[in-house]
Amino acid sequence: MRTFTEHVPVPEDFGTPLIGVKPGSDMDLELRFEAVHEGILVSGSAFVEVTGECSRCLDPLVSDLEVNVQELFFYEEPSADDLGEDEDEQRWVEHDSIDLEPVLRDAVVTALPFQPVCREDCEGLCSECGIHLADEPGHHHEVLDPRWAALQGLTGEEN
Ligand SMILES: [Zn+2]
Ligand SMILES: [Zn+2]
Repeated sequence: MRTFTEHVPVPEDFGTPLIGVKPGSDMDLELRFEAVHEGILVSGSAFVEVTGECSRCLDPLVSDLEVNVQELFFYEEPSADDLGEDEDEQRWVEHDSIDLEPVLRDAVVTALPFQPVCREDCEGLCSECGIHLADEPGHHHEVLDPRWAALQGLTGEEN
């Protein structure tokens, strides 16, 4: 078994439009490579910094993310008997090397929140005026019945 610790620059497309890892930022890898009967078993962790914006209030978000990976790279194409349902997911050792990028991308993208929030109880933005509701507790807009608005106009004229 070999252990491999490395910083690599993050490739493109590690994320979704709302949240992801900046291309070129550091990804720390701690991986183990184990020769098994069928191929090479890669397991370990990747650490990245995720940036994005809150899906409710649009504030910028930064957080650390650790994902675990475990993937078996086959020495040769598995026979039909070995293949499970997800045939496309099989990976191979090609020219004595393995391509970890799609494995890491899958691990990171599936770990990202579908609707990122700055905090669980983020109240988002006022639908009327767009201010941060967290900044102004109790913020609301008077919704006046038009008939009452008319009466207010009357009292205004009396002054
Ligand atoms: Zn928020
Ligand atoms: Zn408002």
